Amino acid sequence: MTMEVRFDGKRALVTGAGKGIGRQVAIALSEAGAETVALSRTQGDLDTLKQKYPRMKTVCVDLADWDTTRSCVEDAGFIDILVNNAGVGSVGQFVDVPKEEVDRVLDIDLKAIINVSQVIVKGMMKREGGAIVNLSSIYGQRVCVGSAIYSTTKAAVEMLTKAMALELAPNKIRVNCVSPTFTYTPMTMEAMSDPTFCKAVLPRIPVGRFAEVDDVANMVMFLLSEKAAMTTGSVIAVDGGHLLT
Ligand code: NAP
Repeated sequence: MTMEVRFDGKRALVTGAGKGIGRQVAIALSEAGAETVALSRTQGDLDTLKQKYPRMKTVCVDLADWDTTRSCVEDAGFIDILVNNAGVGSVGQFVDVPKEEVDRVLDIDLKAIINVSQVIVKGMMKREGGAIVNLSSIYGQRVCVGSAIYSTTKAAVEMLTKAMALELAPNKIRVNCVSPTFTYTPMTMEAMSDPTFCKAVLPRIPVGRFAEVDDVANMVMFLLSEKAAMTTGSVIAVDGGHLLT
């Protein structure tokens, strides 16, 4: 049995494809044969992707804008494979988090998944099949001081994954969630290059290192593929054992 996964003839859409994990997933899908739509917020990031992968389609939109996002995703045409990856971090003591910050994180990390998925799932239902992966975080299952809004949002993403999986299984649409530990991306680069942070966090990751974007992208690709045909509604940690400690 080969573990190579191919997506020839499939159309994929990846949100937050401009940087970090989403960019790596969009590249991996494209290299595995999928016609890939890369959706993100900064045109320059999409331009450099397009330069290297001319077959890739790009969509520049702010996912916090519900209506514009909805019409952009409708215009993207049918999609067999969806990766709801875009997300923003948020750190702040619960008692002081302003409404604008609560709105920002909920809009991008949760409501955008609902919005984009509603459009794409309608097409998947007509075509009787599809695979979706949502990005959570180990902070969907744990909290630390200052993570109230981010953790709560990611916990909601995990429950949304289960609810979608349950409702969409009869339509042959699988929905899973990947939950990484700290991963080297622009989102976390600053914290992860701080020796004090590394000294505090690395001992809590049993494999002794942070994740690379490929560690996360590989799991996303597996869950999207037919190799994972019997897996739906699952939250899979890519955390080197971090949740065990
Ligand atoms: P990243 O390096 O900051 O990249 C995020 C991408 O999403 C960027 O291209 C960003 O575009 C895009 N994006 C953000 N807000 C958007 C919006 N409103 N509209 C359109 N695009 C938007 O993040 P990452 O580390 O790869 O994280 C990807 C996912 O993994 C997130 O859901 C995150 O919560 C999760 N995660 C990350 C880590 C980690 O340690 N890195 C750990 C656990 C979970 P702009 O740069 O143009 O805004």
